[in-house]
Amino acid sequence: MAEEKVVEDVIILGTGPAGLSAALYAARADLHPLIMTGTEIGGQAALTDRIENYPGFPEGVGGSELADLFQKNAERFGARLEYDTATEVDLSQQPFKVKTYSKDYFSKALILTTGARSNKLNVPGENEFRGRGVSYCATCDGWFFKEKKVAVVGGGDSALEEAIFLTRFATSVIIIHRRDALRAGAILQKRATDNPKIHFVWNTVVTEIKGVDGVDQLRLKNVKDGTESEMDVDGIFVFIGHTPNTEIFKGQIDLDEKGYIVVDNRLRTKIPGVFAAGEVCDPHYRQVVTSAGMGAAAAIEATRFLEND
Ligand code: NAP
Repeated sequence: MAEEKVVEDVIILGTGPAGLSAALYAARADLHPLIMTGTEIGGQAALTDRIENYPGFPEGVGGSELADLFQKNAERFGARLEYDTATEVDLSQQPFKVKTYSKDYFSKALILTTGARSNKLNVPGENEFRGRGVSYCATCDGWFFKEKKVAVVGGGDSALEEAIFLTRFATSVIIIHRRDALRAGAILQKRATDNPKIHFVWNTVVTEIKGVDGVDQLRLKNVKDGTESEMDVDGIFVFIGHTPNTEIFKGQIDLDEKGYIVVDNRLRTKIPGVFAAGEVCDPHYRQVVTSAGMGAAAAIEATRFLEND
């Protein structure tokens, strides 16, 4: 007998702060949202060691602890987590179809909160040594670099925050930045420059990552005078921005030139019933609090859309 086609009110793709906040609001509107977790439960926030700027936690809160609280809060009101990954969506007709590794799901409304992933340097050795000295997450891999020397690439908030975290383990953390001025905010800049374990290499890019069993050496190039040099390190952490996870939506909704979902000021994509929230549509703020707020707003919009259905 053919399986009965179940049509959900709302499916949310992604479990970062936007997805779980959308889930909380949709659950409290009695929509019994189904949340497709994807592979990175909790999103990028869950990989952050400590979050010190989420209101309500004056002493800060662990990233994974906050993600866990978000999830519990949503589940308490009836949100359902499906440990599966969307591989395709069909937004051409109602109900929308979400294809996963295990089956097809159908829903009257969708909230896209698939977030973004770390950019790569795209230099020789980067893929080869990934997980063997090349990392994109200090919280995940910092522990492996006890008493070692590591490089951090980037000059933004992520690079500095993660470099500071790495000083718990490493004896020396070298921040390699392509300019001579940091993009990061003032507080992190001060903390990093005051930290005796952190050193800066300015106007420099990494052109190759070399090693035998793991990373041993970086090839560097000074972008001002073109001189090349080598630096011995045990590991390299790369924090040079993000790319939105929007490949499966391409051609169906509008994306900007960098791939971020284009939404109006009510988080609506060009397809009625399809909303987006969080970093997948926000190249500007990318904060836990702004993503959570967008998630809540998208769920309110989805609720209104379904009421007028
Ligand atoms: P970001 O602000 O975009 O900074 C990326 C850094 O990488 C920049 O310094 C950039 O250099 C450099 N870069 C980019 N491409 C490069 C390449 N190919 N080679 C070498 N360097 C390259 O990214 P982010 O630090 O991940 O931060 C993203 C957002 O999250 C920001 O809005 C940030 O404020 C926020 N955030 C906030 C916190 C916090 O509040 N505690 C923590 C983490 C992130 P240029 O400066 O020359 O462009």
